[in-house]
Amino acid sequence: MTDPHHLLHHIFGFSEFRGIQEAVVERTLSGHSTLAVMPTGAGKSLCYQLPAKAARGTGIVISPLIALMHDQVRSADALGIRAASLTSVTEDPRAVRDALRDGQLDLLYVAPERATTEGFSRLLQEAAIALFAIDEAHCVSEWGHDFRPDYRLLRPLLDEHREVPRLALTATADKRTREDILVQLGIPEDGLMVAGFDRPNIRYHVRPRDGIGSQVKALMRAEEGPGIVYATSRAATEKLAEQLTSATRPVLAYHAGLEPPVRARNQAAFVDSESMVMAATIAFGMGIDKPDVRFVAHAGIPKSIEAYYQETGRAGRDGDPSEAWLFWGAEDFARARRRIETEVEPDRRHGERERLNALAAFVEAATCRRAILLRHFGEEPPETCGNCDNCLNPPETIDVTEVARKLLSAAFRTEMRFGVAHLAAVLGGDDNEKVRQFGHHKLSVFGIMTAEELALVRPVARSLLARDALRADDYGGLSFGPAAKAILKGEASVVIAVPPKRARSRSRGEGD
Ligand code: ADP
Ligand code: ZN
Repeated sequence: MTDPHHLLHHIFGFSEFRGIQEAVVERTLSGHSTLAVMPTGAGKSLCYQLPAKAARGTGIVISPLIALMHDQVRSADALGIRAASLTSVTEDPRAVRDALRDGQLDLLYVAPERATTEGFSRLLQEAAIALFAIDEAHCVSEWGHDFRPDYRLLRPLLDEHREVPRLALTATADKRTREDILVQLGIPEDGLMVAGFDRPNIRYHVRPRDGIGSQVKALMRAEEGPGIVYATSRAATEKLAEQLTSATRPVLAYHAGLEPPVRARNQAAFVDSESMVMAATIAFGMGIDKPDVRFVAHAGIPKSIEAYYQETGRAGRDGDPSEAWLFWGAEDFARARRRIETEVEPDRRHGERERLNALAAFVEAATCRRAILLRHFGEEPPETCGNCDNCLNPPETIDVTEVARKLLSAAFRTEMRFGVAHLAAVLGGDDNEKVRQFGHHKLSVFGIMTAEELALVRPVARSLLARDALRADDYGGLSFGPAAKAILKGEASVVIAVPPKRARSRSRGEGD
C-alpha cells in the first residue's frame, strides 16, 4: 500500500490534508467504517478517492445523481484515477463490468437503484472491493431532508462484504440524522467524524420581507461582487430578475424551466462575471465552482436549516467577507405548513414539522444566528460570534404574550376563519362595515387592545404562524395550530425582537 501523504502530493497535488480528511482516510485504510460529516467544499471526494487508489481492489461509490457521477468520473480520470460509472447511459456496460472483475478500476460509481439489484450483487462477488463509499448518506434516513427508500435497501449488499470498510459521506445531517445513518448503515458509533461547520467569513442577517425588490437592491448597492438571490418558484425568479435590473451590473434568471442551452449560458456567464446577480431557484449552485460569490440572499424561507446552511455556503468560498441575507414572511411558514399537512406522507409529517419549527426558531431568534446554526449541527459554539445581525445590533426584545393571547382569543371568538386585518379591526374596536356585518362588535374581545398593542399585532401574528400557534388557510383565515394551547393557558410566553420601524426600513430600502 502506498503512503497516503505521498498520494496526496503526487495524485492530487495538495501539500496538506484538510481538517478531518487525514483521519477519515486513515480509518478507511485500516479497514474501519466511518460516517464523515463535512460541509460542502470541505473535500469529501478525496476521502474515498485516495484510499481507493491506495488499497487493492475497487472503491464502489454509491451516488444518487447521475449527472454528478459523470462529472466525478471525469475529474477522477483527469487525476489519473481509473474511474467508471454504471448507469442507464453507460455506453459499454460490459467493458465496465469486465474492467471491474479484472481489477482495472480504482473507482466504480453506481446509483442506489442499481446497487441494490441482484445482478449487481453477483457482479461484486466476482470483484475485489476496496471500500464502499456512500455519498449523500443522509438519504438513508427518514430524519434527513431528502429520504430515498433505495438507500435503505443497500444494507444487505454491504453485509455481503462485512470485511469491506464503509465510508458514508454527507454535508448535511443534524444530530438525529447522523445517529440514524450509523444504525442504518451498520457503522460503529466511534466511526462518526464531523468537520467544523463554521463559516466565519459569512455574516448572517435575517429580516422580515418588506418589499423584496428594494430590499435586495439595497443589498446590491452595499455588495458589489457577484450574488445569488434564491426565490421559491420559476415565476418568482423571473419577476425578481426584472425588479433587480440595474444599469451598473448584469442580472439574470436561472431555473429548471429554461432551455438547457440558456441555462448553461447563464451559468457560464455568472461564473465568469465579477458583478453578476443571479435570481435563481435552488436548482442553481449545485456543482458550480465559483469561489468569489459575495452574497446569497433568500427571498423566502428555505426548506430547512440544513438547506439554508448549504445554500448560504455558496458564498465566500474564497474566505473573504461575504453576506447571507434571509427575507421571510409569515405566509412562507403558512404555505410550508399547509404543504406538510396536504402533500407529505403522514408518517413523515412529524419530522417535517420539527424541521420547520427549527427554521422558525432560527428566523425569529434574537440571539446569535451562527450559534443556532452550529448547535443545530451538533457543535458547541460560543454564545456570540460578533459577525451576525443579532450580535452586531442586539435587538431589543419585548414580551408580547398578552398581545398573543388577545389575538388568539379574537381568532377563536370569530370562529377561526378571518385574517389578521379583520382581527385587528375587532381588537382595536373599529366597528367598520365588515365587523358589524358579522356582529363582531358585540364580542367580548371587541376593542380590548391599546394602540401600542395594536401596533404589534402583525409581528405577533407572524411569530405565531412561524411557531405553529396559528395556521393560515388559502385566504389568510387564521385558526389554531398545536402550539396555541400552551400560550392561551399561560404555559408558554411569546417574546419577539422589537420590530424595526417601518418608516426607517422603507427609506433605507429605497435608498433616499
Ligand atoms: P465536497 O464534495 O466536500 O463539497 P470536493 O471534494 O468537491 O468537496 O472538494 C472541494 C474542493 O477542495 C475541490 O476543488 C478539491 O480539489 C479541493 N480540496 C480537497 N482536498 C483538498 C486539500 N487537502 N487541499 C487543498 N484542496 C483540497
Ligand atoms: Zn452572532
